[in-house]
Amino acid sequence: MAIESRNPATGQLLRAYDALTPDALEQRLALAQQAFRNGTRMEDRIFWMRRLASLLDQDRDEIAALMTSEMGKTLAAAQAEVEKCAVCCRFYAEHAESFLAPEMIETERSASFVRWDPLGVVLAIMPWNFPLWQVFRFLTPALMAGNVGLLKHASNVPQCAIAIEALVRRAGFPRGCFQTLLVEARHVETILADDRVAAVTVTGSEAAGRAVAAQAGWLIKKTVLELGGSDAFIVMPSADLEAAVTNAVKARMINNGQSCIAAKRFLVHEKIYAEFQSRFIAEFEKLNVGDPMKPTTDIGPLATPKLVDDLEAQIEACKTAGGRILSGGERMVGNGNYFEPTLIAEVPRTAAVAKEETFGPLALLFRVKDLDDAIALANDTPFGLGASCWTNDPREQDAFAQRLEAGSVFFNAPVASDPRLPFGGVKKSGYGRELAAAGMREFLNAKTVVKA
Ligand code: NDP
Repeated sequence: MAIESRNPATGQLLRAYDALTPDALEQRLALAQQAFRNGTRMEDRIFWMRRLASLLDQDRDEIAALMTSEMGKTLAAAQAEVEKCAVCCRFYAEHAESFLAPEMIETERSASFVRWDPLGVVLAIMPWNFPLWQVFRFLTPALMAGNVGLLKHASNVPQCAIAIEALVRRAGFPRGCFQTLLVEARHVETILADDRVAAVTVTGSEAAGRAVAAQAGWLIKKTVLELGGSDAFIVMPSADLEAAVTNAVKARMINNGQSCIAAKRFLVHEKIYAEFQSRFIAEFEKLNVGDPMKPTTDIGPLATPKLVDDLEAQIEACKTAGGRILSGGERMVGNGNYFEPTLIAEVPRTAAVAKEETFGPLALLFRVKDLDDAIALANDTPFGLGASCWTNDPREQDAFAQRLEAGSVFFNAPVASDPRLPFGGVKKSGYGRELAAAGMREFLNAKTVVKA
């Protein structure tokens, strides 16, 4: 059975599933198409979406424990994730109607406007790192716009995937509006090629995005890609250093270090470098690695053994290139996919590993000499997801906002997704946006209507 739910804190197999048979898959595709054709009314969708939020509130602890047991994030982080999903449901219940309102455009005709019509069945290929949030940030705007969702979740979080479908049904959305497909990545090609699937969204690695987008391009199906990042966290002399250090640790260690928008490269101005480094090391040494169910734990296990191997290989590459370990550096012995919080300095900027995405508790520290140097180094990666800049100088803020090649730039705060703000990247971090009106419109037909 290829679809396994395994506790990363212990290695214990929790559940295993067979992939859907071709017949079962066919039934689900037919049901999705039927659900789209039947349609739903906006007022009903608003009601169901509000009820979905209430169910998330009600079942918060149970859903959070499921997430923690399947992929190892701390229970506190999992609870916060469920709460964020509920906020997202309420936001789209309240605002979808205005996002979908026809856009009137003045011409010499009696009327001309754009109406926003749903595309149909949208396939969502999602990762395990935020098993609920990644899915909700797709499903809430998509369902509110009248689209229908099919979820191919990561193979290591099948119980979360099943739980999400059950929640959406309990909220009242008709059968077929949102279904989980328990399938492996190799089955995606057949599903995407099916004429009943109109569009696809991928959150995950560059490799997954490339494979899906190549096929979708050939099929001429709309695609949104939210891929990796190697985000810069830039600290300039005018910053509040204590706040910068505290948030640097949070920004790197969110979700045990496994987030696309986690800060991965720390670019610190030479004037404050020594002070920042010693405080950063001290904060790393305080981090408590252990059982993600315990409230005292800061960092739980990585989601899979492969992530531990990948991180170890990247640390080896840092050392080979000349990097100096300031803290941690080793996988931890015993059961579970635990890794020491690791801080490395002096990795040459030209080393391949200095530009890669690292998915675990590993931070790389770089010294920069001025604003131009910081911007050049921040942009020297194939990715362009987000950047967090710590400066109180308005001219520096303008320069960063304008010149950083990233989908978002946050000042004096870590990068975070927010249901109210568009989210996405440039370069190899992908294209298209999720969330806000811009995200909702990705899977809509901007239909021009003209009356003579
Ligand atoms: P993947 O990109 O492999 O997995 C994400 C999703 O894509 C899963 O549902 C996976 O299915 C699916 N998938 C993978 N390959 C294909 C394919 N060829 N066609 C269709 N679907 C596919 O990520 P991993 O979990 O393997 O993690 C690897 C690296 O990816 C991480 O180290 C990190 O760098 C990056 N990543 C980035 C994320 C982000 O938030 N941007 C999230 C997760 C990973 P299945 O699970 O069945 O393989």
